[in-house]
This record gives sequence, structure tokens and C-alpha cells, in this order.
Amino acid sequence: MSNQFDDETGFETLAIRAGHDRTNEGEHSEAIFPTSSYVFKSAAEAAARFSGAESGNIYSRFTNPTVRTFEKRLAALEGAERCIATSSGMAAIAATFFGILKSGDHVISSSSIFGVTNVLMENFLKKMNIEVTYVDLIDIHSWEKAIQDNTRILFLETPSNPLGDIADIQALADLAHANDALLVVDNALCTPALQKPLKFGADIVIHSATKFIDGQGRCMGGAVLGTEDVVGTDVFAFLRTAGPTMSPFNAWVFLKGLETLKLRMNAHSANALEIATWLGKQPGVVKVHYCGLKSHAQYDLASKQQSGFGGIVSFEMKDKEAAWKVIDATQMLSITGNLGDTRSTITHPATTTHGRLTPELQAAAGINDGLIRLSVGLEDIDDIKVDLQRGFSAIQS
Ligand SMILES: *Cc1c(COP(=O)(O)O)cnc(C)c1O
Repeated sequence: MSNQFDDETGFETLAIRAGHDRTNEGEHSEAIFPTSSYVFKSAAEAAARFSGAESGNIYSRFTNPTVRTFEKRLAALEGAERCIATSSGMAAIAATFFGILKSGDHVISSSSIFGVTNVLMENFLKKMNIEVTYVDLIDIHSWEKAIQDNTRILFLETPSNPLGDIADIQALADLAHANDALLVVDNALCTPALQKPLKFGADIVIHSATKFIDGQGRCMGGAVLGTEDVVGTDVFAFLRTAGPTMSPFNAWVFLKGLETLKLRMNAHSANALEIATWLGKQPGVVKVHYCGLKSHAQYDLASKQQSGFGGIVSFEMKDKEAAWKVIDATQMLSITGNLGDTRSTITHPATTTHGRLTPELQAAAGINDGLIRLSVGLEDIDDIKVDLQRGFSAIQS
């Protein structure tokens, strides 16, 4: 964080100004540095940089001024010592696992996680002889029971995607720490504008910047945040060596995204709450999942951990046929797997984002064939309703 800011500085101020060290050109908006390497004044300076004796830019696989500005700003927003930016959210998760874990370690993961994260664990962690046990996100006893001597990481997303289940971050951080393990929280759905997991004891926060941090569906990116000790060493070492690097152009787009993050997350949350409430009254809708509804089983916990409930709402139709009918009748909503966009998106998780999961994992994650996920965007709320209404009419006719 730049010197001019302290613990009292407001979120919106940090989101707009933190991390930017102006160059001699006096640029007002952050500069993009599209350069792969940097020039040294002498052989001795080059040697000092490479050895780490002197800090400074070396090579953009792991040091780039635009990317660093993004890292510093996001670190300020999450309240983290260190941030490592990556080429995608999956790269952030892979860098965390492969930077920290070794053969023979054990991971406990919520079964309600992003589908590809499941695939990473099943196809790659297991191949490296790293055990994975899946547990019920909201059942603390299932996490306790899964602890082993070699457990190194507890991994979760909260709220879960697509069902919006809420994990008790503080309780799981305590459990992790009592067993010499790290709690890793994927905070892509809330962003620091709505939730700061480190404050509740999490050790590492992960982001897919592709989602709400960009906010307009343009760029791929990710981030890992935590202490200098873990993220600044093990995770950074993986990034430096394996190279899943964020591009400076993408970092610049994400910087612009951060500047409006709070405003957008509040607007997404307000639209989502209204849509969730409205969906509950529509014919053919069997169930609505949104942690901002007072009827949600963990509404109180969500209210404690989050300052808003986010943009993801899901709801169940009676079967796959009805779900597909609703999706196909919409004309404005985008049928796409992406989320966290100004444009509202509609998805059938069982056959798309979560389609590569085994039937057992799908069931454990609560993904049934009638489930539809909405990422509620920032269009006029009435237009979103009109479009969904086409689907409900199609079912009745
Ligand atoms: C999209 C997403 C990811 C993966 O991020 P990419 O940028 O697509 O690689 C990870 N976790 C969550 C919760 C996501 O929504």
C-alpha cells in the first residue's frame, strides 16, 4: 500500500488510488507497460537484481509495473500483505496448490466448488499423490472428521456457486489452524467489496478476476492473496518458475474494474435480491437459492460475513426439459457459462459448468437437472423480469 494510505482509508479510496506509483511522465491514469524485460545500468546491477539482493524489475513473467499496481491495489482491498496476479482464476488455484503442496499431502475441499477446480483436484492433484476428501461446505463436523495428520489445505468457496451455501469462515479457520493446515477461500463471487475472508482468519484468498473484478466480461485473470511468508515465497516461486502470468494489458483493465467494484457489487446485489424475491412467486419455480433471502437457512451467517449478498441467484424447475425451455425462451439474457458481467447471464449448470463432474459429485454439490443459474447483471431490472417471464410463459403454454 502506498504510504499515503492507512487502516482508516476507505475501501472506495483504495480501490481508486492504492498501488499507483506515478512515473516521471506524471500520468494521471495508470500506465500500461508492455515490455517483456528491463534494462540494467551495469552487469553488477543485473546480477544484484537476479540474485534478489536488489529489488526491481527483471522480467515480466514475474515483475511488471502494471501488474504490480494491480497486485498492490487488490492487496490493499483484501487487507493482505501480498498479492500474486495470475493469468486466470484456475492459474491462481493451481499456483496455490502446486506452490504449497507436496506428494503425500492431503486436501479437504468443499464439494460445492467451481467445476473445473474439482477437475484440477481429481485429474492432477491425485496424479501427484495428493489426497483429496470432499465434504459438505456447511457441515463443520464433516470437515472435522476428514482431518488427517497430513492435511495441509482446507479449500472452499463461500457463497457456493451456484447454490449460495455459506461456510463459517472463522470456525473453519480455527479448525485449520488447530491442525497446522491453511484455510484457502475462493472469494470470486463476493470480491473484497462484499467479503474479506482474511478478517475472519482465512490464510489465503483466491480470485478469478475474470468475473466481477473485470465486471464486463473482457479479460482472463486471477490472484492469490495472503502473507509474505506463504504467498510471497511458495506461490510466488511457482509463478516465477511455471509462468502463469497476468498480462499488463489485462492488469490495466482489472485496475479500471476495481475502481468501480463497490458500486457495481452493490448494484448487482440489489438487482439479484429483487430477482430472487420475484422468482419465488413465479409459476413452475420449485425453489430459489439466494443467501440474501431471509428464508435462506444461513441468512444470519451471510449477513455477518458479507456486506452484501452478491449477484448469483439460482432456481429449480421441475426437470431438465423445463429448465432448458426457460433458458431457450429468453431473448436478452446471455446463454453463457460466464458470470460477474454487467450483462445478465443464464446457465444450466448440470450440462455445462458442472457437466464434467461425476454424478456423485454433482449430487453432493446439489446440482440437479432442473437447476438454472443466473448471474444478475446491471440492465434495467424490469427488462430482466420481462425476459425471464417469456420462459415461464413458454412452460405454461
Ligand atoms: C470462474 C471461476 C474460477 C476460475 O476462474 P477462470 O478465470 O475462469 O480461470 C474459479 N473459481 C470461481 C468461484 C469461479 O467462478
